Amino acid sequence: MDTFEQAMDAMSKMDKDEQSKKIGSMKDMCICPKCPSYTSCAKNAKELLFCATGKSFMCIDQEKGCICPGCPVTKQLGLKNKFFCTKGSEKAQRYEHTIWGASLVR
Ligand code: SF4
Ligand code: SF4
Repeated sequence: MDTFEQAMDAMSKMDKDEQSKKIGSMKDMCICPKCPSYTSCAKNAKELLFCATGKSFMCIDQEKGCICPGCPVTKQLGLKNKFFCTKGSEKAQRYEHTIWGASLVR
């Protein structure tokens, strides 16, 4: 298991309270509001932590750069992807790449 898989495994073993505390602390670390792709719509909707929650809901549709690689959450969770607000969560991007990438190319 890599860092991300270990982190997801640890999260799945937490109770609901621990999970929401962990999510809250990661939201506090999220630097999306400083990103050029982040919009006032996303701010008003309090959208954050797209790497875990997935795409922005109707607020971000233009990629103007992504600062996720410099975010402490990327290091902590061992994220390998970016542009989570437009492309989907780390889990979704990994899963899609694995399934389709692996099965269609061969
Ligand atoms: S990796 Fe990106 S989406 Fe995830 S918390 Fe950091 S800035 Fe936000
Ligand atoms: S996920 Fe990446 S591109 Fe989207 S707002 Fe956050 S830092 Fe910017």
